[in-house]
Amino acid sequence: MSDSCLFCRIVRGEIPAALVRQDDHCVAFRDINPQAPVHLLVIPRVHIASLDALGDAGIGGQVLAMCAEVARHEGIATDGYRVVFNTNAAAGQTVFHLHAHVLGGRSLDWPPG
Ligand code: 5GP
Ligand code: ZN
Repeated sequence: MSDSCLFCRIVRGEIPAALVRQDDHCVAFRDINPQAPVHLLVIPRVHIASLDALGDAGIGGQVLAMCAEVARHEGIATDGYRVVFNTNAAAGQTVFHLHAHVLGGRSLDWPPG
């Protein structure tokens, strides 16, 4: 845990978020600035700065499994959805607590910008 990290503060309940699902390992909540009809963030409870700092593959698996669960729960799994890990500055990462974006509910362009 990091005292000042925004997403650690959401995990601790110090900052409100629209929680969708949580378990012992991960928390899923709605992005405050959604880029698609469904735009969720899935984060590990432990503080990991980015995918580049992921040492424990098990945590990565827990995050991915929750992405698939929330996508099914939101009803976007059959049509299709995208899971994105913006990693470090050039990819546009702004919050340095590992998070997966789960985006769906509309057609998504490829390649991304
Ligand atoms: P990044 O740009 O690091 O990949 O994604 C960070 C995401 O966090 C952005 O999509 C942004 O809208 C979202 N975000 C930033 N602050 C908050 C917040 O306080 N609450 C929620 N729910 N999402 C946030
Ligand atoms: Zn954190």
